[in-house]
Amino acid sequence: ITSPGLHVGVIGMGVMGKSLAMNLAENGVPTAVFNRHVPEKEEKIASTFASENSLFPLLKGFDDLETFVKALDKPRKILLMIPAGVAIDQQIQQLEPLLDQGDIIIDGGNSFFEDSSRRFQDINQKGFHFIPMGVSGGEEGARKGPSMMPGGSKEAYDLIAPYLKKIAAKDANGKPCVGFIGPSGSGHFIKMVHNSIEYAEMQVMAETVHLMKYGLKLSYPEISKILKSWSGEGLKSYLLEITADILVTKEGKNFLLDMILDKAGQKGTGAWSLTTALKYYVPYSPLAEAVTARLLSSQKEDREELAALYGHRFGAFAEDKVILLEKVRNAYALTRILNHEVGFNLMEQVSKNENWNLEFSEIARIWTNGCIIRSTLMENMVTLFKENSSLLKTKQIKAKAKELRHDLAYIVGLGLQHGFALPVMSAAVNYFYGRITTDSSANLIQAQRDFFGAHTYQRKDDPSGKFYHSEWKS
Ligand code: NAP
Repeated sequence: ITSPGLHVGVIGMGVMGKSLAMNLAENGVPTAVFNRHVPEKEEKIASTFASENSLFPLLKGFDDLETFVKALDKPRKILLMIPAGVAIDQQIQQLEPLLDQGDIIIDGGNSFFEDSSRRFQDINQKGFHFIPMGVSGGEEGARKGPSMMPGGSKEAYDLIAPYLKKIAAKDANGKPCVGFIGPSGSGHFIKMVHNSIEYAEMQVMAETVHLMKYGLKLSYPEISKILKSWSGEGLKSYLLEITADILVTKEGKNFLLDMILDKAGQKGTGAWSLTTALKYYVPYSPLAEAVTARLLSSQKEDREELAALYGHRFGAFAEDKVILLEKVRNAYALTRILNHEVGFNLMEQVSKNENWNLEFSEIARIWTNGCIIRSTLMENMVTLFKENSSLLKTKQIKAKAKELRHDLAYIVGLGLQHGFALPVMSAAVNYFYGRITTDSSANLIQAQRDFFGAHTYQRKDDPSGKFYHSEWKS
């Protein structure tokens, strides 16, 4: 990086764009920044960044898109950090007349991967490069070191890689948590799956804390202490750590958590993963349940009305607390493994269908730091995926799942009997049993289909795979 000009341009000075621009500048990259000007805001980026220049002398703000584009070294590298959807198409449309052949547009937002695949084709045909790139880590990650998942043009990736490697989080071996994911919209696709694993990881954590609070009658400080101890027992993760902190955060005399309305928000990536899984016929129940749980939570008024109608409340567990806590920990641990298995399984199926050749060990490595689902499990997965693309088929996970499965089933059963909704934990055990069952109940489904619709069926005693139809009697 030797040119004296501006090397990278960032459009969108929201939470993520501003943090990434500061990260670039702090790492020695002369960076141009631009934000659209909405009349009611009239915020001038040039003056805002002029005043920040003493802290970030390598940042230069622009109020005019054309001047911003002209100020960049060629081939230009322009990172969009703006909302997914129509905003991206409009921004690209405004940029194109100002660009030269070979210039690179990077979409670092959470765009839907099918939109990114379409844009990749369109932009390529016009002689520009496009890099749809997932970015994880939230504001702090963007500022101090995110995990990044760029896909699309490999040729263009090689040109931006030095910049991305500078600002990325580093893995345990000091390697940047970024790497070329694959063609087309694959970078945004894996970011979408990352987010859906994140949904399930958050939900199983919430279910676990709920069981501890109401079933085991533990206080928040007690639960926080237990979660911290789990960190040392192979369950270390960013989400576990922040949950332990959240549980003891107070506002005056009250725990802040008790003040927070139990209506979970979402921005779409979880639901997109679910529709994608359905489109590619991939079982997705534990991760799908995390999306459904957020939807149910948002119907607070309806839940209040129905809770009163049914007189529903949670019952406390009578069993020994120490023994139960161990089982709860094991149920949590196995559900987490299954959450990851489900997400990576979707990636494997889509990768096969689209000929993307996704490398799961490398994806897991990119997710070992900087991102929200970083964990000891993710670190293990870097090695496990070298053994098999299905976690459940690796020796280590097989041994673990065999050891923990009864506790997961026990806790789900106990929780349900005592009135707890455990959507992700119970979907996980169902998914697991479904995966490890030889003789499923689906023979009856096939018989019914053939009975009412002559849909035919295959037979166990005919390995040729031939389809049969029977004359069923009512
Ligand atoms: P944000 O804080 O809401 O900022 C959005 C930025 O986009 C603002 O600078 C806004 O400008 C600009 N913008 C809005 N509509 C625009 C349009 N039609 N044309 C051009 N610019 C427009 O959002 P953010 O959290 O930084 O997120 C940016 C992207 O990163 C999103 O796709 C998001 O999903 C993704 N992402 C976010 C996180 C996170 O933790 N926040 C993490 C990973 C990925 P104005 O100020 O003028 O409105």
